[in-house]
Amino acid sequence: MYLVTIGLEVHAQVNTVTKMFCACRTSFGEDPNTHTCPVCLGLPGALPVLNRIAIEKTLLTGLALGCRSPEFSRWDRKNYFYPDMPKNYQTTQMDFPLCLDGGVPLFDDCYPTDARKNIRTPNKIVRLNRIHLEEDVAKSTHLANSTLIDFNRAGTPLMEIVTEPDLESAEEAFAYLRSLQMVLHDCNTSDADLEKGNLRCDVNISLREKQSDPLGAKVELKNLNSFSAIRRAIHFEIARQTEELDLGIAQIQSTRRWNDDLGETQLMRTKEDAHDYRYFPCPDLLPIATAPLLDTVRPRVPEPRLSRIARYETDFGLTPYDAAVLTADGNLARYFEAASDPSIPAKKTANFIINNLLGILNEASITITDCPVPPEKLRDLLTLVESGTLAQNQAKEVFAVLFASPEKSPSAIADQLGFKPTSAGELDTLIDQVIKNNPTEVEAVKAGNEKLLNFLTGQVMKSAPTKPNPKQVTDLLRAKLL
Ligand code: ZN
Ligand code: MN
Repeated sequence: MYLVTIGLEVHAQVNTVTKMFCACRTSFGEDPNTHTCPVCLGLPGALPVLNRIAIEKTLLTGLALGCRSPEFSRWDRKNYFYPDMPKNYQTTQMDFPLCLDGGVPLFDDCYPTDARKNIRTPNKIVRLNRIHLEEDVAKSTHLANSTLIDFNRAGTPLMEIVTEPDLESAEEAFAYLRSLQMVLHDCNTSDADLEKGNLRCDVNISLREKQSDPLGAKVELKNLNSFSAIRRAIHFEIARQTEELDLGIAQIQSTRRWNDDLGETQLMRTKEDAHDYRYFPCPDLLPIATAPLLDTVRPRVPEPRLSRIARYETDFGLTPYDAAVLTADGNLARYFEAASDPSIPAKKTANFIINNLLGILNEASITITDCPVPPEKLRDLLTLVESGTLAQNQAKEVFAVLFASPEKSPSAIADQLGFKPTSAGELDTLIDQVIKNNPTEVEAVKAGNEKLLNFLTGQVMKSAPTKPNPKQVTDLLRAKLL
């Protein structure tokens, strides 16, 4: 058994309309090389212009993750020769990144489902080293004897989010990425979709025998593009290194790629052929004074999930489960809060959203962001339940109609479905009639067979001209008979 140390470097495309250093539109899935200009093609003499939104979004992400920023942030050139970057350097940040420190909490529900029972370090927070901003490179497609290049992606703003070597298993790496993804969504700073390539993950992994040993040789896994690939690649790599170490084969610093089809990592290069990037400050761009930008961005920082969960449990009295479900998506949490009302117990609002709304959204394959029913209408509907006008089951039916016709009001739909409370006097007459017509059942109820109350309720419901609230009917029957 060896101690496993893992650090992650995540590249997240910032979801801006235009690129980092030019006015070309960022794009995905469009005709190759249709979103380019002299700047993002790296033509000689072209000069970069900073994208303020990309900088603000990076600082916002940093604040949401508890980072601090140096007073001045600076741009550097990372020199290398490769067709995906024809100016032969990437404009990035080396010594003065926009964000430093901070951390990403690992919530239980961020772990893979089958690993939630064996979480080694509950409530772990993975420390961040830095977040810097850089430009994405062009996309290469390698054919048998040639390579195709698409520059649409070149120059897309890219946040590089680097952890300290705090992770100890594939499952923690998985949980880290899920949690990070939630924050990026909540801040609306990156679409953070691994499948679309706007979130990309490199894994550094090393093994050693005991805590007092220095960190073992670092093996880097490149180009992991799905949650399952990340988990499988780390498992494979731990097993591979363990086997070699057991045989007395020392590991050397190297870079490997994950082959998803074969389910194995393959050697790409070792330290000997590592690049020397010869970083130096970019002469074309001025350093950024971070304080005024941070002031602009600070009001937009969403409430951290940790404090939201705590607030839902203490202020709203929700269970940890409910609080976790509602806060897993910042937009869902905001929906819940907008649908809440002091006159409705929070637990009931939470239940309706978790047991009803989420199911309907799931069936329609949409997220809460695209929910056609505004939260205010759900609040109106739940108010009708609270006042006894509608039964719980009736509210579900009303909501289904509301989902298809969100322009209608819940009470109009209730009318349309015939869900009307029968007036108290009318209901009284109906109940007396049913009691008179069913003497055997009434006697049985009085003798203690409360199940028959449901039968009598059904009789009242049938005879009513409108559809009264069945719970109200049962309560009235109970009051009269017991
Ligand atoms: Zn351009
Ligand atoms: Mn990078």
